[in-house]
Amino acid sequence: MSFLVPCPVCGPRDVYEFRWGGATSRRPTPGAPREVWASYLYFRDNEAGLQEEWWHHRLGCRRWFLALRDTRTNELVRTFWPPAPPDRAAAPEEAGP
Ligand SMILES: [Zn+2]
Repeated sequence: MSFLVPCPVCGPRDVYEFRWGGATSRRPTPGAPREVWASYLYFRDNEAGLQEEWWHHRLGCRRWFLALRDTRTNELVRTFWPPAPPDRAAAPEEAGP
């Protein structure tokens, strides 16, 4: 089934130009119990409704971005950039020479 994906850089393009990267999830901390890591690696929620996902425009700008997709209709409600990592957001701006 074909549908359009609104790339934040290139605009609406055919879904076959993209690679689906899966639903977003929060990575466990390095010392988390094995059960938490197993759940993170092998189990998915498989929600019926809005789901936040990673998408890659492999035949276009080659950028990764996030999309909010309704899994029941494949409608992409919104696409957006991931938030900046906390260490970058808190870093002071570089001063010029
Ligand atoms: Zn693009």
